[in-house]
Amino acid sequence: MPILFLGHGSPMNAIEENEFVKGFRKIGAGIPRPDAILCISAHWETRGTFVTSMEKPETIHDFGGFPRELYEVEYPAPGSPEMAREVMEIVTKTKIEPDYQWGLDHGAWSVIKHLYPDASVPVVQMSLDYTKPAEYHYRLAKELSPLRKKGVLIIGSGNMIHNLRLAAWDKLYDNFAYDWAIDADTRMKKFMQEENHQELIDYTAQGEPFRLAIPTPEHYLPLLYILALKEKQESINLFNDKTVAGSLSMTSLKI
Ligand code: ZN
Repeated sequence: MPILFLGHGSPMNAIEENEFVKGFRKIGAGIPRPDAILCISAHWETRGTFVTSMEKPETIHDFGGFPRELYEVEYPAPGSPEMAREVMEIVTKTKIEPDYQWGLDHGAWSVIKHLYPDASVPVVQMSLDYTKPAEYHYRLAKELSPLRKKGVLIIGSGNMIHNLRLAAWDKLYDNFAYDWAIDADTRMKKFMQEENHQELIDYTAQGEPFRLAIPTPEHYLPLLYILALKEKQESINLFNDKTVAGSLSMTSLKI
């Protein structure tokens, strides 16, 4: 299976009709139908690493201040306790534990719903251990590699550049990006294309533009999971490659 990093942006992308939604749909239609999805979402941070292990994960509306319509969205994809067990077995770097409380957060459902609108593909989420450094996440992700050969679509859902505090909401749709965002974006893509993952793992050593692009790690780390799973001979296809509100990049990858 290919691997995807999806820039999810605003939760409103779940119900809006826009170019990004079209981009997600096109990607979904262009890849083989998976047996299951493993999603690493920016919106599930835990101490330790967990995988959702319930048969029927709930749709979690983990945001505030949005229209009622968004809270009414349900994405009733089944879980896959089987696949969750498999993840716990293949990962040796840490003990992954089953979770029965979480469900599907908007980092997962707001984008997966555009790939598979009928919610027929089982979805398992894996959490981000917020106590661990970037290098740890990158190494852990490598252990997930065998799942690709077993029909599992691994999705990282976050945003490469994600600074809500500096977002220029009045410039949401005019393709505006701050200079620092353009700088960080250019260098991130250069490192990706050169297969220079170490520089991306060491993102805190990349100076001011990266510091502004990644004020907190959770939206960036899912990208490292996906890059870690890239085989040398595979190429990176960018889509939804735009910045909105100056400080949020929607840039997504299909590998
Ligand atoms: Zn988010």
